[in-house]
Amino acid sequence: MSDNSDGMVSLTFHGGVDEIGGNKVLYETDDGAVLLDFGRRMGMTGEYYSEFLQIRSKNALRDLIRLGVLPKIDGVYDPLFVDTTTLLRDPADRSKLPLDEAPDYWKREDIKPYHPSQSRVDGVFISHAHFDHIQDVSFLSESIPVICTEETRILSKAVCDVSNTGVDQQFYELRRREEIAPKRENYRTLFPGELDYTPVKEDSVPDELDKKTGFTFSHTFSSRHREYQTVMEGDLKGIHYRLIPVGHSVPGACSVLLTREGAPTVLYTGDVRFNGATGATIDQYVESIGVQVDVLITEGTRIDNDSIITEKQVQEGIISDIKDAEGLVLIDFGWKDISRFGVIYEAARANGRTFVINPKTAYLLYEMHVNFPDRYPDPREMENLRVYLKREGSLLYSKADYAKFKMGYLHHHGKNSAMKDRNIVRIAERMGIGGKLDNKRTPLPEPVPGEPYEYQEVYELATHHITHGLKAYEIRKHPEKYALAFSYWDSNELFDLIPEEGYSSAKYIKASTEPFNDEMMIDESKFMNWLDLFGVRYIKEGKMFQRRHISGHASQPELVEMITKLNPGKIIPVHTLNPEKFEELFPERVIRVKHGDTLKI
Ligand SMILES: [Zn+2]
Repeated sequence: MSDNSDGMVSLTFHGGVDEIGGNKVLYETDDGAVLLDFGRRMGMTGEYYSEFLQIRSKNALRDLIRLGVLPKIDGVYDPLFVDTTTLLRDPADRSKLPLDEAPDYWKREDIKPYHPSQSRVDGVFISHAHFDHIQDVSFLSESIPVICTEETRILSKAVCDVSNTGVDQQFYELRRREEIAPKRENYRTLFPGELDYTPVKEDSVPDELDKKTGFTFSHTFSSRHREYQTVMEGDLKGIHYRLIPVGHSVPGACSVLLTREGAPTVLYTGDVRFNGATGATIDQYVESIGVQVDVLITEGTRIDNDSIITEKQVQEGIISDIKDAEGLVLIDFGWKDISRFGVIYEAARANGRTFVINPKTAYLLYEMHVNFPDRYPDPREMENLRVYLKREGSLLYSKADYAKFKMGYLHHHGKNSAMKDRNIVRIAERMGIGGKLDNKRTPLPEPVPGEPYEYQEVYELATHHITHGLKAYEIRKHPEKYALAFSYWDSNELFDLIPEEGYSSAKYIKASTEPFNDEMMIDESKFMNWLDLFGVRYIKEGKMFQRRHISGHASQPELVEMITKLNPGKIIPVHTLNPEKFEELFPERVIRVKHGDTLKI
């Protein structure tokens, strides 16, 4: 730990310097420390890994540290990631590993893992739920609380619910612990007794209350998640913090203000924009901070860009694009960008079309509705809104092909047939839909008076997209009635949406971000091949699609106005490839840091 006994604060930049995202700023005093974001360094990770070369999950932390993607910091990482041998159920099995030959296979000696008695960090602030700000929280000890807005917590949960949770995607939900133990003697293998990873046995699995249904569900395994703290203001070891809501391309984004007696006041902006459909103006933002900022750690993604487009202009563009369309409209947007969803939804309605979204967006909208009913309507009740049902699995539109969130608004359908379990299968049985009604081992659940939900409604939530989902052949009958959320990853749907014979007058609108790496550029040109072959019209600008989009980031004039009005003593640019632009604009005040630098303030 750095010595801050003189009452000073030190800032260490473990990510986010001279790169877009991957922000990891360590703020330390002599009493405590906090992290400002702990995001994945996407660009750097992409320099090594690709779709077909993935991170080795059992060695992820140690591999990523060696690549320089993750920092060497003591006292923050989960011990299991630092030293795999702590997972050995029986220490005698150590002899089966080449521990002396290759100690670095199992353990990093140069990093102290998290330990409760010498906790290095008292909390990690997450500015918003984009991977470049949250993903590497996955490697931190679960004892370190995550502090963010309630919307960011809900979004993090929704992202985990609809993903296959890999080892580096446990920033919300924690994976089951797996111990290393020998395979059972009678295990069907050529080599019984060899070591393998086995999930830790659980004596009992507690029932869990499901907020959406008001029902208690049993799971096969205990589900666990990190501790999220979502109060907007508080104290941690003498550090006073305040979360300041700010606009960005996901809901729930905030800046973090850190104050401490006798120490400079630090404002970390996170990612900011001021001209979206929602979010504060610059004046409102500056006013809500309300104190003199001594050190401003600011994002600068678009510090070299003058163009200010408003979300209103984006909407007008989309409205006129849809108005001109004769056939099906395909429209691309980031599924987590709920304010863009609203803009497209209104644009589709203005043209008398139904907006057809994917199950992920629908799932997120419903999560937001359940948690913030005043701000987010129930997507099931929104007019001119449907959910697209792909052909999956057998491609027979068989109900058995769909699982989890793709089926409806519940991501867990109950895999356990415990005696009193009210899982969805039992509920279906109760309604006479499925299962064996006379199965004595799993009697039907007794209704409990006062339960907030009817069985019918729970079943409806679990199967909504199957019963109400819109299928490609239905769209093909009346393509002019729909605007369908669509990206490169949905290209196979073109086979089903557009008949082989006959004229296609479909149109594609790009309402999402520019490609920011080579792979995205390649995907964009592949996508054009698909659209060309199927006769889908689109507008090109140079080699890329024309965009109906504003970035989630403030432009240069906005950043300059924000900084001028905040009037900070020092400025530290992060999340930018053009820090020198800040030096030109604010000479004298800019501090240029390098990756890994520690700064005393
Ligand atoms: Zn970012």
